[in-house]
Amino acid sequence: MSSRRLFGSTLIKDYYAILGISRNATKEEIKRAYRRLAKEWHPDVNPDPKAKEHFQEINEAYYVLSDDEKRQEYDRILLTGDEKSYRDFMEYIQDFLESIWQGMRRAPKPKRGQDIRLKVELSLEEAAFGGEKEIEYERWIDCPECNGKGYAGHMEKVICSSCGGTGRRVSGIFNFPRPCSVCKGRGYIIKNLCPACGGRGRVAKKSKIKITIPRGTDEGDILKVSGFGHTGERGGEAGDLYLRVVLKAHEVFKKVGKDLYMEKFISFPMAVLGGSIKVKGLDGEHIEVFVQPGTECGSSKTILGKGFPSPTGPGNLIITFRIDVPKNINSNVKSLLEKLAKELGDEGVETKNGLVERIKNILPFR
Ligand SMILES: [Zn+2]
Ligand SMILES: [Zn+2]
Repeated sequence: MSSRRLFGSTLIKDYYAILGISRNATKEEIKRAYRRLAKEWHPDVNPDPKAKEHFQEINEAYYVLSDDEKRQEYDRILLTGDEKSYRDFMEYIQDFLESIWQGMRRAPKPKRGQDIRLKVELSLEEAAFGGEKEIEYERWIDCPECNGKGYAGHMEKVICSSCGGTGRRVSGIFNFPRPCSVCKGRGYIIKNLCPACGGRGRVAKKSKIKITIPRGTDEGDILKVSGFGHTGERGGEAGDLYLRVVLKAHEVFKKVGKDLYMEKFISFPMAVLGGSIKVKGLDGEHIEVFVQPGTECGSSKTILGKGFPSPTGPGNLIITFRIDVPKNINSNVKSLLEKLAKELGDEGVETKNGLVERIKNILPFR
C-alpha cells in the first residue's frame, strides 16, 4: 500500500501511488479515490494493524493533491527529487498533518454536566428555622435505555463520508482544518442510535430531591447542592444545582432586614388602661407583651431578639398597635360606652336618646 521512492537518503512519498491514481488524475478522480480508500482503511473499521498508518497517508496524500498550489509544488519535487524542498514542504504541511493525527487520537472525552440554576421559594418559617425541603426539577440524566452510550447494544458505525473519517475538514481560504460538522468531529456516524434518547445518551427527567435549608437563610442566598446539576456525558461528573432563595410573603410578619414587623389589635380599654397581651412569634412561641397605659394607635413596641435569626444574631420583633373598633356591639356594651362618653364629656357622641332628640329638632313639624 505505502509506496515510497528512494531519492538519495530521503524518502519521498508517492501520493499518487498511495491513492492508486495516475499522475494526471483529475480532481474528481482524486476525490473519489480518497473517499473509497479512507472508508476502507479507517482504523475504526479496518482491523489491520497498519490501518492507522495507511489512513494517515491517504489523508496526507489527499491534502496535498486536492490543492492546486500544493500539488504543483509536490509534482515539481517528485520530478526533481529535490530533498531539501521536500523537507521544507513537509514542514509546511506539518500543522495539518498533526491536526489529523490529533483528531484520530481524540477519544471522546468525559464532559462535566452543566450546572442548574433555579429559584426556590421559602416561607419565612422555613428560611428562619431551616430543615429539609423536597423540591422537584428537571435535569438531564444518562439515558436508562442505552446507559448513556447513545446507541443500542454494540455500536454500528459508518465512516463519515464528508470528512473521510478524519473528523476534520479543510475549509476556508487558509485551508485550516476544522472539526467536521456532519460527524461532530468523530469521523464516523453511528447507525443504531438509541431510539429513547435519539443518540444523545441523555434524557430530561423530573427529579425530586430533599435539600437542607440552613437556619437563618435569607432572601437572595444561594444554596448549592453539589452533584445535582445535569449528569455529565461519557462518565463526566455531574454539574451542581444552585438555588436562589426567594422569601414568600407572610400573613402576619413583614421582614425588613432581620427585623420582623407585625400589627397587633388591642381593645380600647387595653389601650387606655394598659395590661398584658400575648403575641405569637415566628417560631410559634407565645410572647407576653406589656401594653403601656395610654398606648396610642400606631405606636409600637420593640421586643429584642425575637426577630429573624441570622448568623450575626437575631433581629427584633416590632409590634405596631392598632385599636380595635368593634363594629357590632350588643346593647350592654353600647350603654357602657354611652356612659363612658358622657363621663369623658364627649357631647358629640350619638347616644340613642340624643339621636332621637336631634331628629326631633331637625324636623320642622311634630
Ligand atoms: Zn465527518
Ligand atoms: Zn438512549
